[in-house]
Amino acid sequence: MTYVVPVPTLPSLPVSGGDALFPVRRVFCVGRNYADHAREMGADPVREPPFFFLKPADAVFAPQQPSGPGGAGPAVPYPPQTADLHHEVELVVALGQAGSDLDPADALDAVWGYGVGVDLTRRDLQAEAKTLRRPWDLAKGFDFSGPCSPLRPAGEVGHPDRGRIWLGVDGAIRQEGDLGDQIWTVPEIIAHLSRSVTLRPGDLVFTGTPAGVGAVTRGSTVTAGIDGVADLSFTVE
Ligand code: MN
Repeated sequence: MTYVVPVPTLPSLPVSGGDALFPVRRVFCVGRNYADHAREMGADPVREPPFFFLKPADAVFAPQQPSGPGGAGPAVPYPPQTADLHHEVELVVALGQAGSDLDPADALDAVWGYGVGVDLTRRDLQAEAKTLRRPWDLAKGFDFSGPCSPLRPAGEVGHPDRGRIWLGVDGAIRQEGDLGDQIWTVPEIIAHLSRSVTLRPGDLVFTGTPAGVGAVTRGSTVTAGIDGVADLSFTVE
């Protein structure tokens, strides 16, 4: 058997503190999961069932950290086809076990670990898609649209359900919230998703963003984190 085009390399994220890698299979993202962000997007933050969209697996990557003092900073290219690139900081859940029709009480058994990621969004394309009732795919799923920290195993960080989640641009805080403000908790999100698809090891779930989303421009440095989980930093070029 031969492949007719070069076999793509498996998208992966580093595991914090070693050489191990987490293989990325699919990337599910929750649309609105903090009431204050739902409001800022003009939506009513009622507890309607969570909705999902996907990014391609190879949109996710860990920006290279500087190799030393004066080393080149981690860079994310400014994407084409937009004049309004937005940041959305999110808790990222990494699944280590398969599951379908999960009960929320068992759903955390499927979780391998956690990280912090940024759901980069071409907001102008998303607004146009909403107006025209078209899919969000190319507003959300473009090259380098999912910068993510190295992942940390649940055995190390537990299953965080409280804690500050934040993002800054050029040193100024833009987004700040608490995981405890999520409309749907991580086990509820996983259980809900597992009723629509069979979840598999390697799947990631971006769990939504708190208020304060806004534009990043070329030259901006983005820093983000979840207290007790992970940090992330990159520059947009
Ligand atoms: Mn998002």
